[in-house]
Amino acid sequence: MFLHKTLFLSDIHLAADTPDLFEKFSKFIKRIDQTVHAIYILGDLFDTWIGDDELTGFHQEVIKLLQQITKSCPVYFLPGNRDFLIGKRFIQQSGVQFLPDETKILLYNTPILLMHGDTLCTKDVRYLKARRVLRHPLFKRFFLSLPLILRQKFAKSLRKKSLRHTKTVLPEIMDVEQKSVECKLLQHKVAYLIHGHTHKPAYHEFILDKQIRSRYVLGAWHDPSPAILSWSEDGTKYFIPF
Ligand code: MN
Repeated sequence: MFLHKTLFLSDIHLAADTPDLFEKFSKFIKRIDQTVHAIYILGDLFDTWIGDDELTGFHQEVIKLLQQITKSCPVYFLPGNRDFLIGKRFIQQSGVQFLPDETKILLYNTPILLMHGDTLCTKDVRYLKARRVLRHPLFKRFFLSLPLILRQKFAKSLRKKSLRHTKTVLPEIMDVEQKSVECKLLQHKVAYLIHGHTHKPAYHEFILDKQIRSRYVLGAWHDPSPAILSWSEDGTKYFIPF
């Protein structure tokens, strides 16, 4: 007999100009066997997503790869800060199931909160301000109505800005703030939180309200070992070696 398990991953950052990441992701998908109950992708599957209508050969390759797995194993997708514009067409074509950010699931009788993680970085005020604008439904609608070429230009300049921001802002500003983590755990009444985004894979344990709380941070795929979390039906959890 084998134990069933559920896998959590994030921050794959797939892009046409980084075929090695696609290779890695493709290997991972092809290794999924019947012991895997479900896969949760917690944001930033793509390095950028500017609309479902930008359907390049690369995008089609990713969709084909996902189709292979979603037929036999449910794959859930929760948007990240890079691919929050993923829309219905991609969801339908790939067969993934959409989850909004901050979703509480019940996994093998354990309630777990799933987030991308960017909204926990509450010390990064400049980023959160920009996020509010970018995520506004009106902005999204306006942006998606622009010609592809303009959206590509905008995405490029945003990436440059973000790179500059990451280089100039202190690393602790861009990490999650403990009090925001605690706030979310209390709000959703959970002991477990899984998120990505910070690219600082780790397991954090602390006491809050006399209860042990656990926070799992998933890793980015440009690291040699991307820190994918495996949660077995008997409750054992570990980062799988890649
Ligand atoms: Mn992110």
